Amino acid sequence: MDLFTAKAATTESLPLRERAKQALKDYFGYEQFRPLQQDIIDSVLAGKDTVVLMPTGGGKSVCFQIPALLKEGVCIVISPLLALMKDQVDALRAAGIGAGALNSAVSQGEQQDLVMRCRNGEVKLLYLSPERLLSDLPWLKQQFTISFLAIDEAHCISAWGHDFRPEYTQLHQLRSLLPDVPIMALTATADKITRRDIIKQLALAEPNVFVASFDRPNLSLAVKHGLGKKQRDGEIADFIAERPGQPGIIYCMSRRLTEELADTLKAEGINAACYHAGMDNTSRERTQLDFIHDRIQVVCATVAFGMGIDKSNVRWVIHYNLPKNPESYYQEIGRAGRDGAPADTLLFHTVGDLVLLSKLAAESGQPELNAAKLQRMQQVAEANICRRRILLSCFGETAANDCGNCDVCKNPPAFFDGTVLAQKALSAVVRTQEEAGINMLVDVLRGSSRAELLERNYHQIKTWGAGRDVSFADWQQYILQFIHLGLLEIAYDEGFALKITDTGREVLKGQQNVQLSTLVHQTREEKKQKKEARQKQRFAQTVADDTTPEEQLFQQLRRLRLSIANEEGVPPYIVFSDRTLREMAAELPQTEEDMMAVSGVGRHKFELYGQVFIEAIKSFAGGNTDSQGEASVSKKRARGDSYRDTLELYKQGLNVEEIALRRQLNPTTIWSHIAQLYLNGEPMNIKDFVTDGEIAKVKIALEKLGKVTALKPVFDALGGDVPYHKIRLAMAWIEKN
Ligand code: ADP
Ligand code: ZN
Repeated sequence: MDLFTAKAATTESLPLRERAKQALKDYFGYEQFRPLQQDIIDSVLAGKDTVVLMPTGGGKSVCFQIPALLKEGVCIVISPLLALMKDQVDALRAAGIGAGALNSAVSQGEQQDLVMRCRNGEVKLLYLSPERLLSDLPWLKQQFTISFLAIDEAHCISAWGHDFRPEYTQLHQLRSLLPDVPIMALTATADKITRRDIIKQLALAEPNVFVASFDRPNLSLAVKHGLGKKQRDGEIADFIAERPGQPGIIYCMSRRLTEELADTLKAEGINAACYHAGMDNTSRERTQLDFIHDRIQVVCATVAFGMGIDKSNVRWVIHYNLPKNPESYYQEIGRAGRDGAPADTLLFHTVGDLVLLSKLAAESGQPELNAAKLQRMQQVAEANICRRRILLSCFGETAANDCGNCDVCKNPPAFFDGTVLAQKALSAVVRTQEEAGINMLVDVLRGSSRAELLERNYHQIKTWGAGRDVSFADWQQYILQFIHLGLLEIAYDEGFALKITDTGREVLKGQQNVQLSTLVHQTREEKKQKKEARQKQRFAQTVADDTTPEEQLFQQLRRLRLSIANEEGVPPYIVFSDRTLREMAAELPQTEEDMMAVSGVGRHKFELYGQVFIEAIKSFAGGNTDSQGEASVSKKRARGDSYRDTLELYKQGLNVEEIALRRQLNPTTIWSHIAQLYLNGEPMNIKDFVTDGEIAKVKIALEKLGKVTALKPVFDALGGDVPYHKIRLAMAWIEKN
């Protein structure tokens, strides 16, 4: 920690913005701020009340952690969950930042010690639970200067939000308790009512409000419709088999479902556990810890799971059932891929769930609001244009382009004239006096003879059996489309009977045509092939590793990370994120400079772990030449391969951001590849990225500085005017020409 106080002292003379950037690099190992982070930090440093709306994984934490480091005094962070606090304090300490938490688990002696460390500047961030606020703040503020208050998960204060917490209402009194201390509120909830409510409840004074894009391009989106329980279980087993060892969460509607699904998966040999609010505290905590520490791969959970989880390497999220609104859906899928590396999400959508959720909405305290939110969720699930566009529109955001990373974009639906199908169904609705629910209607159309149907004499109406040629599941999906198209409505208050609408009547009379999207079917043969592939893959995993050297090294680094984490009693992702390990495996850093250039390797983490990881990489890349010469040769090629992969994508016309995302690398790394490829004589249009003016500036700086190869002196000499990546490109150009 001393190292960092010393470090801070040397940067004191720099302008604040520059110091913020330096702190980002030193403590967190990142080269650049994400959009808005810099402005948010400026606002807090200027002492303004500040509201931050950013999606989960967007990078809210550094927005208060960096000002906390730079400002005099201690930043008080209010956070709703104990587990979350512990996680953040662990992560800060691992990064070399003095932090602590005051909660019921802290003894009197520890408390005194903590306060002392706050007073002498060793602790810059102090986490408090909302329950402790009113009792603790009055005496704390006499012990040391409070630089500002950061309220995490601020939407918990609003009764409009989906996550209201009574203990947060105490925060009303913050302003009067500490009238001169700036307040910062952070949340991943975007809706406008909640936003206004936060400002009002906290009595914020003309706050700067920052709304980041809610888009998380690294999350893929997919929906599967109308699958029964057995089918879903099969799909899930396939899904997991395709992602060996990758941690994921499956959200289920009920406690029982979580238990059943966990059992099913365990029987398939998958390392799974369940989690719900009905379990006792100890087993809940154990499951959570096991998941965080990568000892459990899959958690089948109710929505009670996840809020306290900062785990950055969750690689996928599945919704077994439809969520009740887009906010919950987005927050839950947002728990995947927080490290920015690609992650997958899958949602199962059925009419049954929709009906059940509508009922719950109708019986809730705010029936209209909740029904409207459910309807938006339904629109997302039933989208037949880019699903992300529809999802983002729920948060008031308009996307300029289709995303290319959702199921609709990847596999656009085809349409066909479904007028006759619709007429059959609509006619059956009318002839059953609009009293039949969805399943009964399908039974009528398919000519079933079940008892209830016969009792109601439905077998005598004209449309009985008129849709025998379409399967039960397909009819369900078509009817869903009819509802979505506004031809039919569900009467939630009449036992979910289907009612025909005015538009529906027009279709029935032949005054309007209906376009339906075609359903995708998996043939029996495809299913069989998939199952065989799955078994083969599982067999291959137990017998041999036929993965690439890069993947092998990644797995080795993961194991190294796990053993360090176990020794230190922290979650693995706190040591390094998946993304950081991936970059190491691709880039093979073997010197301090190269290692520090990896995204996520800050100065403190380098001091702690850098050498161990360098050793591991060295021995993988160069060692064991005698017995395993092959491995060494293949690894020596790997660095060149890495450049070639970038070149390949560049030639395909991808831009740097896209290449970085595709390769799971930092854009900085890609820029360095481009510079190197250019130096190697590859046809790179380097002038697309750096102007003659910028090259001239760099040239002058270089002449002044003499012969330097590092970027930082040049950057400083130019007063931060030219970003690092451009300096790198300019230097390559100068060298070459
Ligand atoms: P949130 O609290 O908004 O859900 P976090 O603060 O946990 O998100 O950040 C998500 C991830 O992004 C973390 O792994 C964090 O270290 C990383 N991150 C934050 N800022 C940057 C940045 N400027 N460059 C690269 N990674 C970043
Ligand atoms: Zn899309």
